[in-house]
Amino acid sequence: MTHPNDRHAGDREFATKLIHFGAEIDEATGASSVPIYQASTFHHFDLEQPPKHDYSRSGNPTREALESYIALLEGGTRGFAFSSGMSAISTAFLLLSAGDHVIVTEDVYGGTYRLLTTVLNRLAIESTFVDMTDFEQVVAARRPNTKALFMETPSNPTLKITDIRRIAAWAKEQELLTMLDNTFMTPYHQRPIELGVDLVIHSATKFLGGHSDVLAGLIVTADEALGRRVKALQNGLGTVLGTQESWLLMRGMKTLQVRMEASERSARKLAQWLSEHPGVARVYYPGLDGHPGKEIHERQSQGYGAVVSFDAGSGEKARRLLGKVRIPIVAVSLGAVESILSYPAMMSHAAMPAEVRAARGITDGLVRYSVGLEDIDDLIRDLTQALEA
Ligand SMILES: *Cc1c(COP(=O)(O)O)cnc(C)c1O
Repeated sequence: MTHPNDRHAGDREFATKLIHFGAEIDEATGASSVPIYQASTFHHFDLEQPPKHDYSRSGNPTREALESYIALLEGGTRGFAFSSGMSAISTAFLLLSAGDHVIVTEDVYGGTYRLLTTVLNRLAIESTFVDMTDFEQVVAARRPNTKALFMETPSNPTLKITDIRRIAAWAKEQELLTMLDNTFMTPYHQRPIELGVDLVIHSATKFLGGHSDVLAGLIVTADEALGRRVKALQNGLGTVLGTQESWLLMRGMKTLQVRMEASERSARKLAQWLSEHPGVARVYYPGLDGHPGKEIHERQSQGYGAVVSFDAGSGEKARRLLGKVRIPIVAVSLGAVESILSYPAMMSHAAMPAEVRAARGITDGLVRYSVGLEDIDDLIRDLTQALEA
């Protein structure tokens, strides 16, 4: 009989790949779920022939199943799992050396901004933050020592769109390494490697894990040579994901498509409803007509995602809303089965000076709604009472 793990064709549809990713059946026992190899080291049966795995930092079968899984989903060559999204991002930036310069999306994730401006700057890795919706700004930021370009699209929390294909093509001409944080879209909605990006990063803590119960990060490389460099860093830095978390993440990822479909359907309805609500000053969602990046987003992504940001009008109104909602949890993070309402001015972007925040549209009235799997009519009824209160 054909071994189930040999029946994989790259031409399967995404939903099928999510379930049959190539390592889902245990080779040794046929178990229907990847076993948790909770071992730090492996016996050498024969000193002349070192075992396939010798130490779990360098390679663990459970983690490797996850790593091949994300590589398949992103359409890349090699995948790597890390202890958090920031651990993945830190490892990726250490592909650079002292004296190198990187161009970065200006409204990048707060932790990425902090890493670049308080840690990597001390190692003489320089960065320039630019509005990547404006191609000319990206070109103008290029210096003789520029080695890489880091994108995040849609950006957080105002969901600005970067033209991935155009920037990746320019970067290739300039021989710059391109990296992209694909956390908000996931490979179900957006596959940057197919658009010319070299390295894709995820905070798998969000949609990929999907249940607010695991912290993890992932990297996928487009080619083998870059994969070997990331592997050396992952092993050298020791930024690996643990075995239990690797298993839990795979458990969550199997339902990625059905979760994303349901949450996105609700997010579209919520964004439309908010845009018609008199108590809401502004709505940010790439699926809304009038979003400046809608067309570009539609050329590079298969969906709009499940995160909707909106301006309640003032800081006072936003704080009142946060106190009145009954269904979403009020917290940082996003991409879970439960809806999550965040308040950037006091949570993720609190460290940013008020003027800088204002210039980036992160007003005191701005809230970010990550739509979960609850019934959309309940979510809208809940927001109705919270906005009226
Ligand atoms: C949460 C997040 C990160 C950081 O991931 P952790 O798992 O929290 O370390 C990076 N990028 C984006 C876009 C995020 O939302």
